[in-house]
Amino acid sequence: MVEGSLDPDNVPLLIPASMLAAFAYCPRLCYIQWVHGEFQDSAETAEGRFQHRWVDANQDEVPDDFQPFHARSVSLTAPQAGVCCRIDLLEGEGNKVTPVEYKRGEAPKTPASLYEPYLIQLAAQCLALQENGFSCQEGMVYFIRSQERLPVKFDVALMDRTKALLATLRNTVERGEMPPPLQSSYRCDRCSLAGICLPDEVNLLREMDAEKGRQGNLESEPKEEKVRMLLPARDDQVPLYVVGQGMTVRKRGERLEVWSHEEGKINEARIREVSKVCLYGGVEITTPATVELMQRGVPVLHFSHGGWFEGICLGMSHKNVELRIKQFQSAGDEMRSLSIARKIISGKIENSRILLLRNDPEVPAGVLDSLGRLAGQAEGALRMQSLLGFEGAAAEIYFGRFGNMLKCSQDFSFQNRNKRPPIDPVNTVLSYLYGILAKELFSTVLAVGFDPYLGFYHQPR
Ligand code: SF4
Repeated sequence: MVEGSLDPDNVPLLIPASMLAAFAYCPRLCYIQWVHGEFQDSAETAEGRFQHRWVDANQDEVPDDFQPFHARSVSLTAPQAGVCCRIDLLEGEGNKVTPVEYKRGEAPKTPASLYEPYLIQLAAQCLALQENGFSCQEGMVYFIRSQERLPVKFDVALMDRTKALLATLRNTVERGEMPPPLQSSYRCDRCSLAGICLPDEVNLLREMDAEKGRQGNLESEPKEEKVRMLLPARDDQVPLYVVGQGMTVRKRGERLEVWSHEEGKINEARIREVSKVCLYGGVEITTPATVELMQRGVPVLHFSHGGWFEGICLGMSHKNVELRIKQFQSAGDEMRSLSIARKIISGKIENSRILLLRNDPEVPAGVLDSLGRLAGQAEGALRMQSLLGFEGAAAEIYFGRFGNMLKCSQDFSFQNRNKRPPIDPVNTVLSYLYGILAKELFSTVLAVGFDPYLGFYHQPR
């Protein structure tokens, strides 16, 4: 079992109310967070935590007397109901109490439009309060941005739904099976765990398996139109590149500072706005900065002076073991690996054809036809060896015309592709950019939870 994850044979007696709310939102999200111990901040979750900070700062106890009281951050356990919770604010008089749950953002227009997970979280708190001898008929959701409260009645339907969800969640965890992703849900678009959960990709693989089962055909593939178009998320963070002999990256509070031996501090960046730190050549980084970045899941990448990707420093890797098992199974399945590799290579050849079409004003029609034909052959390749051949032939044609795409050809010329080491300026820039691309893909693959050393095309020998 991975440290920090739950053992399905030993599910805790108490389910946190917040996890039950997550289960109501998306069973898979709850499983990834609670069972795998994964959490990934998004702009929304970071803002929510920031707005919530003063609620979490103090922990009060409920007084014994019968005076009206307001107690913050009250922790309760309820072994019979099987739930535990931390109530943001508990208001009451005597044993009559009202839990108040704080949420970021603005209140909806009516209580009927309240999000179900908010109702479930409050109802779970109600179960804990009742088991501890309190009388509790109603809760409140307080919206921090609009500073409004909306009431939640603890009626029979809500309490029954909450108890049923508790039983289903316990059963799900005991079975040890991660629930499938939601199908084409708006919730996935804003989910901070989408990069770990991979809803579209996992659903596609599930459909492929189902299709296989239906047709009994090992090489069957899904129809293209079933794949939802992927839109890259807006970057809230950007990479920090540090190039220069004798530079040091240090941490100071919430910032990274770049220092030079000669000039002192020359630049700085907010850590929460940094997606990765790329260090070129003799740039150093201090241990506090490294540890802080590891804790936040921000990779530190090391490059040679010439831009060669040397390695990566990352915190604890993802615990999404099912994903890696699926990757290894797919990599060990020759037909599935071939089907993925065919798409990659035919797409690559098609892209090179389009680049020439757009940027080489004198490209002969025969060159474009050849690339189009090779892309089609790659799409239907029956063996990995043939695929390597189609890719090599396409690269030769593409780089044969590459020099014609250079806009300032009076200063730069390109005869052929050479590397390790590149011997002319154009090949040097190409190698540098390939290094950056390799780094981007390597860190992306790691960030998602895959093993970057096991691919579907270039197989281990
Ligand atoms: S991406 Fe979608 S399916 Fe996956 S955890 Fe988030 S909400 Fe659930």
